[in-house]
Amino acid sequence: MTPDPLPHVNENWQRALCIVAHPDDMEFGAAAAVARWTGQGKWVGYTMVTSGEAGIDGMTPAECRTVREQEQIDSARIVGVDTVDFLREPDGIVEYGVPLRRLVAREVRRHRPDVVMTGNFRDTWGGRNFNQADHIAVGRAVIDGVRDAGNRWIFPEQIDDGLEPWGEVKAVWAFGSPEATHAIDTTDTFDAGVASLEAHAAYIDGLGWDNWDPREFLEGFSRATGQRLGTTFAASVEEIPMGWGE
Ligand SMILES: [Zn+2]
Repeated sequence: MTPDPLPHVNENWQRALCIVAHPDDMEFGAAAAVARWTGQGKWVGYTMVTSGEAGIDGMTPAECRTVREQEQIDSARIVGVDTVDFLREPDGIVEYGVPLRRLVAREVRRHRPDVVMTGNFRDTWGGRNFNQADHIAVGRAVIDGVRDAGNRWIFPEQIDDGLEPWGEVKAVWAFGSPEATHAIDTTDTFDAGVASLEAHAAYIDGLGWDNWDPREFLEGFSRATGQRLGTTFAASVEEIPMGWGE
């Protein structure tokens, strides 16, 4: 059975903001795409909702936060991203709701992106394993917060603080979604994506997965997605149109 073909994403934009739940989320799905875009001269920024401080069993959250924030900063730099913000919401128990939408809207108003990227917010990854709760909460809040950001009467205290409404986001792209609609050719930047994931060394070590190889892992799904795009490697996204397409 040949998998359904995916079209290329629109790359006619200049600024992308990636808002995800945890350090390492971008690297498990989308860092090679980010490397492609920064290589084209586009600006890409990262916002981490949590610092992944509950992610390493043998390390206290206080200690872990420092390690994982640094790993994320290093990992981002490898794919050309110099702006990494940490919102420091509590890892593992992020709640969807108005406070989270407010945080998202503030980031969107501050950075004024053309597109916003987030992780898979669907219930599953396409199999039977359930998605992690923070991913679902953050992805949903990103879609809503992007819309909120354009309305000056929503979270008006941010406008009073000197931010302007920003309603120019053309699309939200959720990577790793089982309902992918588009893909990005990552053939030329695949190695940067691998290096970016490898930068999360303490985290990967803490997972305790024997013989798990970041390159092999990324190759598996990048090749499968590449087949759908007609390239060697690719990363897929589910596009939620905000201004494009509809
Ligand atoms: Zn995550």
